[in-house]
Amino acid sequence: MAKRDYYEVLGVSRDATEDEIKKAFRKLARKYHPDVNKEDKDAAEKFKEINEAYEVLKDPEKRARYDKFGHAGVGQGGFDAGDFGGFGNFGNFGGFGSDIFEDIFDIFGGGFGRSSRRGPTRGADLRYDLEITLEEAAFGAEKDIEIFRMERCNRCNGTGAKPGTSPKTCPTCGGSGQVRKVQNLGPMQFTNVTTCGNCGGRGYIIEEACPKCHGRGQAKVSRKLKIKIPAGVDTGSQLRMSGEGEPGELGGPPGDLYVVIRVKPHKLFVRQGDDLIYEAPISFVQAALGDEIEIPTLEEKVKLKIPEGTQPGTRFRLRSKGIPHIKGYGRGDIIVRVDVVIPKNLNDKQKELLMKFASISGEDVKPASKGLFRKMKDAFGV
Ligand SMILES: [Zn+2]
Ligand SMILES: [Zn+2]
Repeated sequence: MAKRDYYEVLGVSRDATEDEIKKAFRKLARKYHPDVNKEDKDAAEKFKEINEAYEVLKDPEKRARYDKFGHAGVGQGGFDAGDFGGFGNFGNFGGFGSDIFEDIFDIFGGGFGRSSRRGPTRGADLRYDLEITLEEAAFGAEKDIEIFRMERCNRCNGTGAKPGTSPKTCPTCGGSGQVRKVQNLGPMQFTNVTTCGNCGGRGYIIEEACPKCHGRGQAKVSRKLKIKIPAGVDTGSQLRMSGEGEPGELGGPPGDLYVVIRVKPHKLFVRQGDDLIYEAPISFVQAALGDEIEIPTLEEKVKLKIPEGTQPGTRFRLRSKGIPHIKGYGRGDIIVRVDVVIPKNLNDKQKELLMKFASISGEDVKPASKGLFRKMKDAFGV
């Protein structure tokens, strides 16, 4: 499942003010709060999603990073204790009382204490922005992309040590990566476990660094990946490629790659959800008398009957000719909006006929062109 856009989660526009974001958050938080949705399992997920989105968008700095880099820019992939600093904003939460803290702890499974031990760390997520055509968005596509990411260094095989040498077990911590300090204060004994300063928690030290990765064990490489774009995606859709992000540290899992879709503007259609808007220019004669016109679709052209007396701006719906719904079956429509074009630079003959038409219709028209007016007076005595 692609991670949802934070703005979409809160239902605000990308240029929403801080106040709008706060309001949207409060409204949704009230709606999906687990206290009022006890039997609804989805609500807890939703509540978590809302909180996560708000945590980022309420903070101008995080928001800026999110705007620029997407979820990858704000280190998403679940909250960690560090990310969650901002409990303060629940203070202005109004009607929930103090049990909000307990709820939050329940939902996120506690785990807020920060351990000093450096364990396996999940690799960072990566973002790739992919521009596609409307046709590709409508019918799906397969794309080749090239990303740059850190991978295990192939020169040293990830050890970070110069080929021919090998990492040595850290003498300070004996390979555990942790240092235990026992302090005696009178009858009490305190054990303090900290990350080993000598090896940085790795448990080994490198005496001669690999020249390619400078001891990191990882090097930047380019990777070509095939992306399968499902039919129905839109600008802002995110395709998650599990495990294609940066590698984890100390045996941690790799991050994910998020491919963020941007659909290029189309020369004929404007997309509105899964519907496509098409402006069809017709003449005022067609509008008045009706006609059959040709409408382009994403596939073949289709015919559309314009009834007599069609007004400018009238909309016609071509059912199921739009974008396929990404969830479930069916497609959106093409909405044809009729644009009645008023002719310019008519010749004398055309003008005469129009004046005659006006006269028959009992309209007293004084045309802008004075010469024509006199001529008409002579001709019809109007
Ligand atoms: Zn290396
Ligand atoms: Zn050590």
